This record gives sequence, structure tokens and C-alpha cells, in this order.
Amino acid sequence: MELTSLSLTNFRSFRALELTLDRGLTVLAGENAQGKSNLLEAVYLLAIGKSQRAAVERELVSWETAEAGGYAIVAATVRRAVDSVELRLGLDCGGGRTNTVIKRIRVNGVPKRASDLVGVLSAVLFSASDIDLAYGAPQGRRRYLDVLLSQTTRRYVHGLQRYLRVLGQRNAVLRAMRDGRAGEDELAAWDPGLCEEGAAVLAARHEAMQRLAPLAVEAFERLSGTGPALAVDYVATVGPHEAGAAPTPEAFAAALERSRRRERAAGMTLVGPHRDDIRLALDGVEAAKHASRGQARLVALALRLAEARLLDERRGDPPVILLDDILSELDERRRGLVLEEALGYPQVLLTTAETALVPPSGLAAARLLRVVDGQVLEEVTA
Ligand code: ATP
Ligand code: MG
Repeated sequence: MELTSLSLTNFRSFRALELTLDRGLTVLAGENAQGKSNLLEAVYLLAIGKSQRAAVERELVSWETAEAGGYAIVAATVRRAVDSVELRLGLDCGGGRTNTVIKRIRVNGVPKRASDLVGVLSAVLFSASDIDLAYGAPQGRRRYLDVLLSQTTRRYVHGLQRYLRVLGQRNAVLRAMRDGRAGEDELAAWDPGLCEEGAAVLAARHEAMQRLAPLAVEAFERLSGTGPALAVDYVATVGPHEAGAAPTPEAFAAALERSRRRERAAGMTLVGPHRDDIRLALDGVEAAKHASRGQARLVALALRLAEARLLDERRGDPPVILLDDILSELDERRRGLVLEEALGYPQVLLTTAETALVPPSGLAAARLLRVVDGQVLEEVTA
């Protein structure tokens, strides 16, 4: 699929932007702090319904506007394999009466929940902070999988939400039990729901991993050449632990039973999809601990390339590829390889502070835009 237009109003450093977009490669060049990443963030916001980097949504509204209690809008037209859709996401600061923003979403003019926006536009964002997929905490890797699955099926988003709701309530009971304010029977009320929803989340994750892992391994092989081999495994806190075997609600209940004493002491649920991880290893050695920075970057790139491929396969419509400032971290050969893979997709938006880093073969056919202080100008190449 592809974006044919993007419109930003009071979004971060953009006051008003109207942009038409083409197929193929668009290079968004500009000096530091001009709004390049903000622009890709806006596109990705439409794809997954939330910001990948803002801790609070109010940050997304231009400071002046937020101060005055105004609103920001991100809107786009998306041409997909079978149709064309209009997306509109508004962030309303409610006249400045509170610090929270109200998110208003419309798809083809019809109001929707954020969870129903996810994946209407499918996109994969590659960014410099992806290195945390290799080095960072398990939470980032779980999020990677959840975002991917959410863009694949609407059912996953809703199932995960239900699981997290039950989990929150069950954890509240566990805390209350620890403080002597709740009893065994209250906990038992949440267990069937947790096991049911948790098993469904795990089934989807296990199923996706069976395809995702080999895709990531292959992508890593293409990028790293003769280097060590990557292994990608889902590490589950609820068995069975054979590759691809998802637990039943009964197996989930048994795992809960086994962790009973520990969870009472901890005051929280210790097994389930919210505690799992993806293990990344290079020649058998855990990447999180021992990979070099260069290797960690290639692992992260491989995971993103696998994500794009899986989304393409599952949706039958290729995602939009967003490359945020990733070229400067790669050597010339890798820059060529990554761009070549990206250009296998119909639309690529790439940001860079340095156009010289874009491989000449890519640049020759690209549309070049310059981002200057929240404005986007067409650059005419000689
Ligand atoms: P770099 O090359 O350093 O990555 P960039 O072009 O990607 O730069 P952005 O991250 O897009 O830059 O940020 C551009 C500017 O937007 C920053 O100077 C930042 O202070 C500003 N900015 C961020 N949020 C807001 C906001 N809510 N209101 C106004 N300006 C903001
Ligand atoms: Mg940036």
C-alpha cells in the first residue's frame, strides 16, 4: 500500500503541512532538528494508533497549541490493494482544562476506536533506537511482536487488550491479598479469564514466530554475510516449550498453580505473555550481552525486514517502509543492501541529514524533499 497524501496541523514542529506522496523512494533530507523524524512519527502514528516514542500524547501537539488548549491533526489518504481510505487522527487538548489529550479517530469519516485504526495503514518503522531490540529489556521485544501482530489481525489487538485488562485486575487482587485486604476466592474469579485470553495471545505469538524467526535469520544472513548465525526463539513462561507449541488454557492454569507461592509474595502475576521474551543469539551467544554494536544493529535490521515481509505475506498488501536516519550507522555495503531490500516495497520514506549517504542507485530515481524548520520543500536535482 502507499500514502498518496499527508496533512499535519499543529503536529510537533509542523504548523501546517500538506504533502502529496509518490510511490518509490522519497528522501526527506535536512539538518538536525528540522522535523524529519516528526514526519515519520506522524505516519507511524496513523499505522499503529499511538506514538512509538512519545511517553505522553500531549507531546505530539505543538507546544504553543497545547498551551492554548488547541488540537493537532494528522490525516492521510492511503491507497491499498483493494481500496483507498482516508485516515484522520485528532489530538484535542480540551481547551487546556486538563493535561490529557482526547484522541479522535476517523476512518473514511466514520469515528473509530484507536484499536480499530491499527493496521488500516500498515507500516514498518526502522529507527536508530531499534538497536534496543537486541540490547534492551524484554519489554521492547514483546512490543515488537505485539505491534507486528496487531497490524496483522484486528483480533489480536482486542485479545491482547482483554488479556491486559484481566491481568491488571488480577494483579490488583494479588497486591490486596499481600496486604491482607483480599482473599483466595477473589483471585479465583480472574483465573479462567486470564488463562483463556493468555492462551489465545500465546497461540498467535507462537504461530507468528514460526514464520518470523526463519525470515529474521535469513535477513541477518543476507546482511552479515559470513558472520555468525542468528538464532531467534520465543522464550515462554508458560509451557509447553517445544517450538511452535502453544499452551491450552489448562496448561496456563497449571503454570499459574506452580507459580502460586511466588506470585503471592511478589504481589503480581509472574507467568504469561507479559513476562515472555524473544531470545536472540549469535552462534549460540546471547546478543543482548555479547553482540558488538554493529552486530546488534544488523540483528535489529533483520527483525524489521522480517516484520515487513511477514506483514506483506499476511496482509497480501505490502507495508509502507519508513527508514528514520538509519543509513549513518551502516557501512556502504550495508547501506546498499538495506536500501535494495526496502525498495522491494512500493513506497519508502527515508530521512537523512546527509543525502550523500543514500546509495546513488537509489537516489537517482528518488524524489528529494528538504525538511527545513517544519516546512517541506521540493528539491530539484540536476
Ligand atoms: P535529527 O536529524 O536530529 O534526527 P529531525 O529532523 O529528525 O532531526 P525531529 O526529531 O523531527 O528532528 O525534531 C524536530 C524538532 O521538533 C526538535 O527541535 C524538537 O524540539 C521539536 N519538537 C518536538 N516536539 C515538539 C512539539 N510538541 N512542539 C514543537 N516542537 C516540537
Ligand atoms: Mg531524526
